[in-house]
Amino acid sequence: MLAVQLTEWGRPPELRDVPIPQPVGEELLLQVTAAGLCRSDLHVMDAAAASFDCPLPLTLGHEVAGTVLAAGPDAAPGWIGETVVVHGVWSCGHCRNCARGRENYCLRLRPRTAGAPAPIGNGLGYHGGLAQAMLVPSARQLVRTDGLDPTVSAPLTDAGLTAYHAVREHADLIDAQATCVVIGVGGLGHLGVQILRDMGAGRILAVDNRADAREMAVRLGAAAAFPDVDSLRTAVTDGVDVIIDFAGAPDTTQPATRLLAPGGRLTVVGSAGARIEVGKDVGLAAGWRVTAPFWGPRADLVAVIDMARRGALHVEATPYPLADGVEIYRRLRAGDITGRAVLIPPPLAR
Ligand SMILES: [Zn+2]
Ligand SMILES: [Zn+2]
Repeated sequence: MLAVQLTEWGRPPELRDVPIPQPVGEELLLQVTAAGLCRSDLHVMDAAAASFDCPLPLTLGHEVAGTVLAAGPDAAPGWIGETVVVHGVWSCGHCRNCARGRENYCLRLRPRTAGAPAPIGNGLGYHGGLAQAMLVPSARQLVRTDGLDPTVSAPLTDAGLTAYHAVREHADLIDAQATCVVIGVGGLGHLGVQILRDMGAGRILAVDNRADAREMAVRLGAAAAFPDVDSLRTAVTDGVDVIIDFAGAPDTTQPATRLLAPGGRLTVVGSAGARIEVGKDVGLAAGWRVTAPFWGPRADLVAVIDMARRGALHVEATPYPLADGVEIYRRLRAGDITGRAVLIPPPLAR
């Protein structure tokens, strides 16, 4: 089968012909129907050999939709033929965070060697979905999509789940009175606006320095959109209850702390180098809270898939053939891709 694999650290990936894996134990084999490309794949490629402890070659792809083709002898029954997405945090299922439904903070996601990033799941330490087929360790990694278009469902496993989880943390504050701000209306932020709207946020404001992104934010439910945090300030005389910063840049996160209403919360999702100063004596609104969630638990993936099936979530995604994967990564790095790029593998000949 064809697979887009990283064969050497610090080099672009390659399209290769590799054996079709066979499921053993509890594993299930998916025919991949779509796999999204994510900027964090670029960080994996760029990792120095010593800093990412993972055997190569590695098939990339942590946003995967597929159809279950085959199951190992000990796998959960009833999955063959189902259309699914893959929950990309391959958690242990047993630790106290997994028992709490916080699989994204599984205590067993540990580095293979000290100091290296822990392997997380498909495409991030284990073979991923930029291939015609992929193994998952067990049915715990699968969520049924009941035929949802895979070009839509694949990006929901990371872009959608991460945005949903970041917003859902604040469900207790999101009501008809709430003022909420989305900073960065890109692959995650455009979903964040819609998730806030669906959860009933009274007033959604957006910040993005690109005019087309501001236009999209308003089209998807924002009351207004601003080019930077400073220009937003005049519109929020009573402060902001929930700020989701999908940029996480030096010129977004620190200025955003000044917008918080008493009891307000700032959630940092993007990792563009922001540093913030927090403390009881640095002039923040009383009751401030700052969070930096990681990805999301399986239950939130179920919820975001359900939202898409209800027609409440428009996903900006463009399909390309798997064979063009190396070139599409090059364009992603060049900033030449809008919305999510999703690769579509040819069906396996069986
Ligand atoms: Zn990602
Ligand atoms: Zn666990």
